[in-house]
Amino acid sequence: MGKSEALFEQAKRRIPGGVNSPVRAFGSVGATPRFIKSGSGAVITDVDGVSYIDYIGSWGPMLLGHNHPVIREAVIKAAENGLSFGAATESEVTMAELICGFFPSIDMVRMVNSGTEAVMSAIRVARGATGRDKILKFEGCYHGHCDAMLVSAGSGLMTSGVSASAGVTAGCARDTLTAPYNDLETVTRIFDRNKGELAAVIIEPVAANMGVVLPEDNFLAKLRALCDANGTLLIFDEVITGFRLGPGGAQERYGVYPDLTTFGKIIGGGMPVGAYGGRRELMEQVSPLGRVYQAGTLSGNPVAMAAGIAQLTYLKEHPEVYEHLESSAEKLFGGLQVLIRRYDAPCALNRIGSLGCLFFTPGPVRDYGGAKSADTGAYAEYFRHMLGSGIYLAPAQFEAMFISDAHQDAHIEKTLAAAEAFFGSRLK
Ligand code: PMP
Repeated sequence: MGKSEALFEQAKRRIPGGVNSPVRAFGSVGATPRFIKSGSGAVITDVDGVSYIDYIGSWGPMLLGHNHPVIREAVIKAAENGLSFGAATESEVTMAELICGFFPSIDMVRMVNSGTEAVMSAIRVARGATGRDKILKFEGCYHGHCDAMLVSAGSGLMTSGVSASAGVTAGCARDTLTAPYNDLETVTRIFDRNKGELAAVIIEPVAANMGVVLPEDNFLAKLRALCDANGTLLIFDEVITGFRLGPGGAQERYGVYPDLTTFGKIIGGGMPVGAYGGRRELMEQVSPLGRVYQAGTLSGNPVAMAAGIAQLTYLKEHPEVYEHLESSAEKLFGGLQVLIRRYDAPCALNRIGSLGCLFFTPGPVRDYGGAKSADTGAYAEYFRHMLGSGIYLAPAQFEAMFISDAHQDAHIEKTLAAAEAFFGSRLK
């Protein structure tokens, strides 16, 4: 038995399912989670000393690759001054100014510790500001695990086939309405049936928790117009897309601007960080200025801020990162597309920038139903083959592939060679 297997057996006795977040479990792909010891650039190494080219990147934040020296040094320097004060620090001001500088839709921002907290808080602001209770979300979008968002959710819930959680009250779930992604007709109907009652529409502007699904046919702009016509706030959950699809996130890429934006892990460079922000009059509703209460002992933690500031400053000073991400992603997904054609594989690819997904269904995949039609058994085989070839993919079909600035041509060529061996072997 390898060390990872032994640790997993030990872990299962003390940690539910042996993991501290369900998306880390390898259950749906019939494998044992690898326990990771270290990471450098595009490569991670497990406790058995096996290295993998990593396409998860801690689920997004390692945009510059693992253990980037600039971020590591910033963290060490900050830690030398003390780990937490629960008091105001200069780094929080720097961070707020950086985020507002990148995102013109954000006048004010509040730091929290995770994407879940960011979303939960943004929803509270929307309800507080509008005096309305109902929220509309999209099937297959995941917005963290606050009660209101555990309805028709993607990511780990989708993989486990439940899409809703036990322990959420009926009252709470009743205030969360859902519509299929990209389905404006249903959204319009929901608006009509709930006149004056919808506080907010929340959406991943590019969905990345049911695999990757792109907004089609000006969907985001049409949502914006519907929200405006109904006094409903539009929340973009940019936990995945913010700073990944470009310095100004999905909103800049699509030219559609929300009232409130949520961020997560990526703005912490790997440290536990989240944030929500938006127009001044909305954010002025937040305590201690306003009546929407929201707090956090470790919010704006100086070590986490140092990592985030280092990552965001690096992106500001190195805009070429985005060109590199785009060209690497083009090579990888362009190469996969060639393989799909060459081997006549019943697969579909969705990609934007450095975010993409290979679906084991002919597609097209434009919503939750389409994603659900994927052959998860085939994905599991593909996953195990790739893992055995030193390629670390998401251990579930309904997750994204994340490319970092550290991925070089050699990594992509090795990945494509492994994928070709898989498709070739299935043809026989
Ligand atoms: N929103 C989105 C779009 C996410 O992808 C995630 C997590 N992957 C969250 C919110 C929740 O973030 P966290 O896991 O940091 O609570």
